[in-house]
Amino acid sequence: MIYRDTLKHAGKRKQLLTILMEKGIEDTSILNAIGKIPRHLFMDSGFEDHAYQDKAFPIGANQTISQPYTVAFQTELLEIKPGDRVLEIGTGSGFQTAVLCELGVKVYSIERQKELFKKAKLFLPKLGYRPKHLSFGDGYKGLDRYAPFDGIIVTAGAPFVPNPLLAQLKIGGRLVIPVGNDPQIMTLFVRKSETKFEKHEFGEFRFVPLLENKN
Ligand code: SAH
Repeated sequence: MIYRDTLKHAGKRKQLLTILMEKGIEDTSILNAIGKIPRHLFMDSGFEDHAYQDKAFPIGANQTISQPYTVAFQTELLEIKPGDRVLEIGTGSGFQTAVLCELGVKVYSIERQKELFKKAKLFLPKLGYRPKHLSFGDGYKGLDRYAPFDGIIVTAGAPFVPNPLLAQLKIGGRLVIPVGNDPQIMTLFVRKSETKFEKHEFGEFRFVPLLENKN
C-alpha cells in the first residue's frame, strides 16, 4: 500500500487549523502537529473526503477516530513538555498517539480491540511515529509496569474514574478523562500529593464507551 499525502491534503489541513483556532485551540505546538499529520491515512480510503472535517469517523470494530477538536482540547489539558511520559487509553486509529509523538512525548498506549491494536502497531512506524510501547489489553488497569506517568489521556467515555489511573500519575501529573455515560464531562485530575487530587470539569463531549474486561 502506498501512502499518499498531497498538497491538496495539506491545504485541507490548513483549513482545519483555522476551524480549531476559531473553536479556541491556542497551543501552537498542538496546532502544528495536527497540521502535519495526514489524518486521511488513519481512516478507510472511502472517508478520504471527510478526513479534514472537524468530525469523528468510524475506523472499524465499532470504534471511531476522535474529532480533531477533541484531540486538540484533551492534549491542551495535558500541558505536556517534550520528554514527558504519557499513557493513552484507547489507541484506536493511532491519530492521538501520532499527535503525542509529534510533541516529543514518550508515548505508551493501550487498546483492547486486537484488530485495531495490530493495525496501529504496523501503521504508525510507516509514518515515522515510534511510540515507546503499544499494548493490547484493558485500559482500566493502566500500565503499572511503566508507571508513573506525567500525563494520562483516556480517549473513550469512562463510566467512572479507574483508581489505577490516578495511582499511576506522578505528583504533579495530569489525568484527562471524559467521565459519564453519553454525554461525558471532560474532567482533569491534577495529582497534588500522594493522596490529594485536584479536579476540574470542562463541559460535555461524546465518546464511544470505555469497555471493561473483554479479554
Ligand atoms: N485515540 C483514538 C480514539 C479511538 S476511540 C484515535 O485517535 O483514533 C476509543 C478507543 O478506545 C477505541 O479504539 C476502543 O476500542 C478503545 N477502548 C475502549 N475500551 C477500552 C479499554 N478498556 N482499554 C483500552 N482501550 C479501550
